[in-house]
Amino acid sequence: MEGRCRPKQRRKVSPMQNKYRLMSPGPTPIPPEVSAAGALPIIHHRTPEFGEVFTRVNENLKRVFLTENDIFTYASSGTGAFEGALQNLFSPGDKVLVVNNGNFGGRWAKMGRAFGLEVTELTYEWGQKADNEEVAEALAADPQIKGAVCVLSETSTGTVNDIRGFAKATENVLTIVDAVSGLGCCELRTDEWGVDVVVAGSQKALMTPPGLGFVSVSERAWKAHEESRMPRYYFDWTAAKKAYRKDPPQTPWTPAVSVILQLDLALRQILEEGLENVLERHVLLGRAARAGVKGMGLRLFGPDEDMNAAVTAAWVPEGVDGKQLVRMVFREHGIQVAGGQGPMEGRIFRIGHCGYFDAYDIIATVAALELALESLGYPVELGRGVGAAQRVFSKSGVAA
Ligand SMILES: *Cc1c(COP(=O)(O)O)cnc(C)c1O
Repeated sequence: MEGRCRPKQRRKVSPMQNKYRLMSPGPTPIPPEVSAAGALPIIHHRTPEFGEVFTRVNENLKRVFLTENDIFTYASSGTGAFEGALQNLFSPGDKVLVVNNGNFGGRWAKMGRAFGLEVTELTYEWGQKADNEEVAEALAADPQIKGAVCVLSETSTGTVNDIRGFAKATENVLTIVDAVSGLGCCELRTDEWGVDVVVAGSQKALMTPPGLGFVSVSERAWKAHEESRMPRYYFDWTAAKKAYRKDPPQTPWTPAVSVILQLDLALRQILEEGLENVLERHVLLGRAARAGVKGMGLRLFGPDEDMNAAVTAAWVPEGVDGKQLVRMVFREHGIQVAGGQGPMEGRIFRIGHCGYFDAYDIIATVAALELALESLGYPVELGRGVGAAQRVFSKSGVAA
């Protein structure tokens, strides 16, 4: 890591050797115990030893998804698990509603069309929240729509959608939620709210390396699966279910053994902290990041709400090159924040705080942003953003 993470063009005048801090909304940093687990010998996946780990992982996933439904784990990224959901739920020509208020909502609309679905897209400006009344109206206007898709935490903008309201608005059709960056940092009560299918991934708030995709499947989703005629093989839920029903449970194909061993430790850490405490910590991290951004004199991108606990996005100020800002924060301060995606490239930057993050990660990031903005000629009063972020934690008593 040393060589790779050391800034490439170190300034001769700077004696500083920076630590590497990954402040992106995926992949995210992982706890040392989770790193260490990745170095353990590979165990065979058809053994009682792996079965013991996998049984615990499946039970603990249910505690984080807050569901009694089946949850399948794939050796894929979140996009793969989502592709599997479309293949298993629908037939070519089926109608689905997709809420698109950012890069990922837009991806699911495109993916639906790629699989021959008739997609009704409900589009909002990036940074805006979905309007669940409009979702209900769109469904009422077309009773043939079979399922509705919404993103919990739209990582491209930092905006978190109201999934409780979305599930209510979509109660008569299949409710499908992309919780890839939201699961484990934003409230999502799968069973209580009636979400049929939740898709997630290992590399965001679950504090695990990239490589695993998850999908939870309700009883109603199973019924839809039985009728669905979309071609599928690798992601076939029937194949997964058959393997999961073995004792101990298995996966139909070779699982990503090492990443599952790592996930085991990460989930135990989340449950030890307590899911509610984890969510509360993320609310504070989001509040502090937004306070820091405003304290520096920058404008937030998206609503200033506690719900937005996964990612904080801000406008790059006028006269500053957004890409240069992100590069400078990394090269000169060792902190990797994310730039904007798609139409927001160069115009916004994003601070990820979903997963293994604490108060000092936010404070350090705001401090580095202040220094970088200053050296890019933007008038910033050093310490204003940092102080605003600190005060969020001091009020709560978290960082005494
Ligand atoms: C990261 C992310 C994805 C895509 O996940 P991959 O693991 O990169 O395929 C999908 N949706 C959201 C909201 C994400 O943040």
